[in-house]
Amino acid sequence: MVPDSGSATEGARVRGFWRRPLAWLAVWLALTGAAAAVFGPVPALLALLVWLLFQHWRQLSHLASLVRWLDNPSDKPIPYGSGMWEEAFSYLARLVRWQRQSEAGLRSALERFQSATSAMNEAVILLDELDRIEWCNPSAEHYFEVDSQRDVGRQLTYIVRQPQFVEYLLAQNFAEPFVLRGARGGETTLSVQLVPYGNRQKLVISRDITRWERLEAMRRDLVANVSHELRTPITVLAGFLETLNDQPVPDVQLRQRAMELMTQQTSRMQNLVEDLLTLSRLENSRGPAAEQPVDAPRLVQTLHHDALALSKRRHQITVEVDADLWLVGAESELRSVFLNFITNAIRYTPAKGRIAIGWRASDDGGAVFSVSDTGIGIAPEHIPRLTERFYRVDRSRSRETGGTGLGLAIVKYALSHHQARLEIESEPGQGSTFSAIFPPRRICRAPVATVAA
Ligand code: ADP
Repeated sequence: MVPDSGSATEGARVRGFWRRPLAWLAVWLALTGAAAAVFGPVPALLALLVWLLFQHWRQLSHLASLVRWLDNPSDKPIPYGSGMWEEAFSYLARLVRWQRQSEAGLRSALERFQSATSAMNEAVILLDELDRIEWCNPSAEHYFEVDSQRDVGRQLTYIVRQPQFVEYLLAQNFAEPFVLRGARGGETTLSVQLVPYGNRQKLVISRDITRWERLEAMRRDLVANVSHELRTPITVLAGFLETLNDQPVPDVQLRQRAMELMTQQTSRMQNLVEDLLTLSRLENSRGPAAEQPVDAPRLVQTLHHDALALSKRRHQITVEVDADLWLVGAESELRSVFLNFITNAIRYTPAKGRIAIGWRASDDGGAVFSVSDTGIGIAPEHIPRLTERFYRVDRSRSRETGGTGLGLAIVKYALSHHQARLEIESEPGQGSTFSAIFPPRRICRAPVATVAA
């Protein structure tokens, strides 16, 4: 806002402005009249002419100093003037002072806006009326790969060239945000919201929604996979119940077969629900696992016995255990991990195959639990995906052997709770080795009494 100049005060100022020169003119005319009476008209008019020329020169010299100042107003002080010019220059000084103050105010507001938006995770870009970049924050530089110096004045569509985005920008309908997939070399998904403001300018605000999209996809996949997994057992149960119900005279053999299959399918559903609950519990319990000392050697020996029972002597199963090597963590989670390796080795190793279970110290002071088998092995392209939920190399084989496809997903979470990592080495047709590698901070020595026993 310019300094206040209400119309009443303005009128008074204008009247005040004219009063002085008109008074001077009146005085000079009166003096000229008096001089004409005393000295005659010619000397009086000559004196008036001299005075008028002097006044003219004075106005011109003030005008010249004003022009000189206007030529470079920022460097020089406002010129000094006398008479009417004094007032004019003082108005000008007030105007310049006000302008400098409001400029400083605007600059500091802009600086505050820029430092606030610079700290934002959201990418912010200001566009002019022709959709050219005026300013952008560091997040915009990161997500849109623009340069806040070099790309100023460049059209946004030169940087984001996706035809759908160009159409969105042209359509001028910004009620819904635009989902920009494939930003930053293809990996990132952005939600881009345009907000028109001012004189056809636009504010572009973008959020990284890659993680959210991934979670959404996982949620959709999970629902689809669980429904798919439950469909077969439920169909089998429903089919048998209907058949048994429709039988006027019970067929003992059929009944027995139905019971067997129904029990099998029920236990499949039970396994699935249990694994889903374990997974959800592990997902919800963020942070490190409990700091309880776990007698890992005893745990591994117990699991070795379970393995022998599970294999029903079809495999040759050996175990090698460092009896002094205890772990710090949550026993139930560690049991899940170890048992998963062992049951998988049994399930994916044909009869007469060999399985070696090992619990030993590693060179860096940590420990490794490993299970090696001489089973069917895994092709390299599958290995990075094995910890995804419901990912199986061979669906039907996994199902036939009672697998849920969730085992290694559970392993991944349980190990990350213990700051441990999973390593898989495998060769198709030769066998696999699954290792859980624990860091030194998770290792503790067995209490003396235990070692002696
Ligand atoms: P599943 O319940 O199907 O075994 P997991 O998550 O435990 O689910 O394992 C995922 C997939 O990894 C399995 O379906 C199988 O294809 C593969 N796999 C796991 N362990 C082995 C192994 N020891 N040998 C061969 N393939 C294995």
